[in-house]
Amino acid sequence: MDKVFLHQLLGRPTAPFRESHVASLVYEFLIQEKIPYFVDPIGNIVVGVDSKNSYLKKVKDKYKEPVRIFIAHMDHPGFHGAKWVNEKTLAVTWHGGTPRKFLNGARVWLADKTGWKGEGIIQKAKLNPMGSALASSWIVIKRLNDSDLKKKYLPQELYGGFAFSAPFWEKNKIIYTKAADDLVGVFAILSLAKTLKNKNRPFLGLLTRAEEVGFIGTIGHLDLGWLNKARESVVFVSLETSRTLPGALVGKGPIVRLGDRATPFDPSLVQILTQVAQRKLPKNFQRRIMDGGTCEATAAITFGFRAMGISIPLGNYHNQSFEGGPESRGEWGPAPEFVHTKDIEGMLALCEGLMERSELWADPWRSKRENMIASKKAAKHLLKLS
Ligand SMILES: [Zn+2]
Repeated sequence: MDKVFLHQLLGRPTAPFRESHVASLVYEFLIQEKIPYFVDPIGNIVVGVDSKNSYLKKVKDKYKEPVRIFIAHMDHPGFHGAKWVNEKTLAVTWHGGTPRKFLNGARVWLADKTGWKGEGIIQKAKLNPMGSALASSWIVIKRLNDSDLKKKYLPQELYGGFAFSAPFWEKNKIIYTKAADDLVGVFAILSLAKTLKNKNRPFLGLLTRAEEVGFIGTIGHLDLGWLNKARESVVFVSLETSRTLPGALVGKGPIVRLGDRATPFDPSLVQILTQVAQRKLPKNFQRRIMDGGTCEATAAITFGFRAMGISIPLGNYHNQSFEGGPESRGEWGPAPEFVHTKDIEGMLALCEGLMERSELWADPWRSKRENMIASKKAAKHLLKLS
């Protein structure tokens, strides 16, 4: 896998509605690799076709197999500036899941549309009414990359998220980072697009915005109605990093996701994915309902599409120190997210497996059914009425 590119992605600032630095790196990659893409009216990136017209044509194409639309999001929970309290203090609004303890004094990074802008410290942290995540806080600016942020910037131009000693680092094959969710999914789709380029396979990628605040980018895309006539010919594959759970542990392989907190996924598609996993990663994958959160497969399902999902187990989900480790501020406090490189490699293998030509798409249950018929045959003598 292309570690250099993965590191570049993890090194980009991102927050809900503030995905431009990830998006610009995605454009650079796609242009360099000569992979077609276009941007939809919401700002999501469609990978594999160069325009709305080619997109509509691709999803209507009569392949023997459905077009697989792989979907991942470019944002990560973070904050937006709201107003200057004084020349060194910015009042901010938080968006998406966050830690809920040991917040005051925690480090954050700041960015604007031109890049990193410095660092600050959280003060006056205020949780939402449920007490489940940060709603607002002050950011006391400590390290400036500009002489005077207040004079130079409208508060709304600045945004940020939790900061650690570096945007990412690797130790014992584990990558620690400010945001693996879901830049690792974005990485997997781009790697797959590169592997498949010039192969004319039924592949598309959809890199979305503002997933962390309720799949806004995905909903915006589906609500365009472009795919309304393609419900039979497309399937969605959500690529996520998901909160670790018993039976879904870091380093034990990617997860064939049976469903999320909202709903189980399409049983025939899960059956296909399970068989791909058995073939590509025998004994090196996990399989369960990942109900620690919801994902974009659910958004697709609510719009009447068939969907499946692959997850990578994510340590310290949404920078909440569930698993602890380096630079954790204590249980429920801020901590770097972490993922295992072996799990990322496994996700790439599953994605490639899903794009191989296969009879599975025509009849996902065939082998299972044949086994059942064989059992019935073996029981034939027992079935005789006495
Ligand atoms: Zn998330």
